Amino acid sequence: MTQDSQGQDPVPGGKFYIKTFGCQMNVADSERMTALLAEQGMSPTDRAQEAQVIIINGCTVREKAVHKAVSMLGGFQELKKEGKGPVIGIGGCVGQLDQGALFKRAPYLDFVFGTDTIDNLPEIVHRVRSGERHVVFAEFDKSMDYSTETKIHGHKAQAYVNIMKGCDKYCTYCIVPFTRGKEKSRTIDEVVNDVARLVAQGVREVTLLGQNVNSFGKGNSNTQQREPRELHNVIGKVGPRLGEENFPQLLRAIDTDPRCAALKRIRFTSSHPLDFSDELIECYAPAQNGGVARLAAHLHLPVQSGSNRVLQKMGRHHQIEGYFAQMDRLREICPDVGLSTDLIVGFPTETDEDFELTLRLLDRVRFDNIYAFAYSPRPGTRAAKMADDVPAQVKNQRLNHLLDYQLQIAEQTYASRIGRQMEVLVESEARNQGMLEKREPGRGERVWTGRSTCNRVVNFVSDSPRNFTGRFVEVKITAASSLSLQGELVGQDPMPLTGQPAMVAPSTGEVVA
Ligand code: SAM
Ligand code: SF4
Repeated sequence: MTQDSQGQDPVPGGKFYIKTFGCQMNVADSERMTALLAEQGMSPTDRAQEAQVIIINGCTVREKAVHKAVSMLGGFQELKKEGKGPVIGIGGCVGQLDQGALFKRAPYLDFVFGTDTIDNLPEIVHRVRSGERHVVFAEFDKSMDYSTETKIHGHKAQAYVNIMKGCDKYCTYCIVPFTRGKEKSRTIDEVVNDVARLVAQGVREVTLLGQNVNSFGKGNSNTQQREPRELHNVIGKVGPRLGEENFPQLLRAIDTDPRCAALKRIRFTSSHPLDFSDELIECYAPAQNGGVARLAAHLHLPVQSGSNRVLQKMGRHHQIEGYFAQMDRLREICPDVGLSTDLIVGFPTETDEDFELTLRLLDRVRFDNIYAFAYSPRPGTRAAKMADDVPAQVKNQRLNHLLDYQLQIAEQTYASRIGRQMEVLVESEARNQGMLEKREPGRGERVWTGRSTCNRVVNFVSDSPRNFTGRFVEVKITAASSLSLQGELVGQDPMPLTGQPAMVAPSTGEVVA
């Protein structure tokens, strides 16, 4: 770092604002940026107007997401007057693809960085704050291995842990392999040490992240030294490759490490049906039957379409019958598992009959939640060369119909949970005033929201002045809607977290008193 004649950093401290678009991986990247800049003496703010550094962490998965990021950038232009004001950067997947081309359209933009250069952020910020302009750091890391250490900012009960990066699946519609590069995995030892360190800092729930965590271990440095072993999945293909460290082994290594004893939940996302092995399904069994005790009873397994013809055009390499078999087997082993998926409507050549098969898929699997998207051609992908022949209006009709249809299913599945007691990790105070209105006057001052092990949103009211963020509480479910459950706190006080004076919910940044 350059220093002035007194040996001082010429641009120390100040505030930074980060706006994040996209998936959990982008959220995890923003958390890392926050920790890196905080280590430099800067503090985060949620008001762009008071920041000296503004960063947009953008997503490129759909065209709309790119537009959002770029139009937000335009909105920040007025903060820069006569060469004064904040320095502004764009990063993440948008930065990776852009490589500095945006400087022409937005000359007030100061820096661009990519998905593999986040750790250079302190240097980049220092350089632009020292007067350099149009700095670009968007090289891909070309090394074979992936090694990192998770960084979180402040005390937190939840943390995202990248266990791998990139993707080798090349689904025909998807830009991720171009923005995040080749698939590379950390080693099991490194991830377990990382999780143990987070647990020592007070983390009680980790979400293991990768574009397809089911292929974790492929080609990492430990893999070469392993004995070959055969793995199959319900689809009948060999799942994770022979002889490699794999994802179920990672789950078990975390679960049994004594340093991770205080960890309560392990989640993971995202998965691909092709690599979703029988061995992973066995991890969902009760602990006494050989399952992974801390594994949350939730699975997000993107299926994308109910039509085998469309799946083939999407380059997914799995068929719908295999997906049903996987879901059936999982429910046999873990009947209360919460299931969610991703779906794309309006993929090239999708007919009404194909779409009907996607609706039948919802009937068959009865997901708790779906993430549905209208197909958006992404430049450079194989699907972008196909005619985008489903009109926008039809895409939107199908999307709305699909979402409405799912809401009806979820209403029934959620209602079946009434009367149950659930352990909930509280994420924040909620704005659900409707719940307060239903209460007798004087009862229940605040509504709190969190998630059950099966990833259902659970809201509850409490009379206590106490801040529940980051705590595990028991809630008895008394009512349900198609999006969430509502309940009563069981017992007066939640379980204390030993030695943790204050916790922060990652989503809100709220500090617990
Ligand atoms: N790797 C993860 C996976 O396979 O599930 C996540 C990939 S992507 C960030 C999340 C979702 O975006 C995908 O599952 C897919 O449903 C959707 N998606 C990806 N590309 C898309 C496109 N071109 N148009 C519409 N939706 C898309
Ligand atoms: Fe994209 Fe397919 Fe990789 Fe998921 S698995 S990131 S959808 S290419």
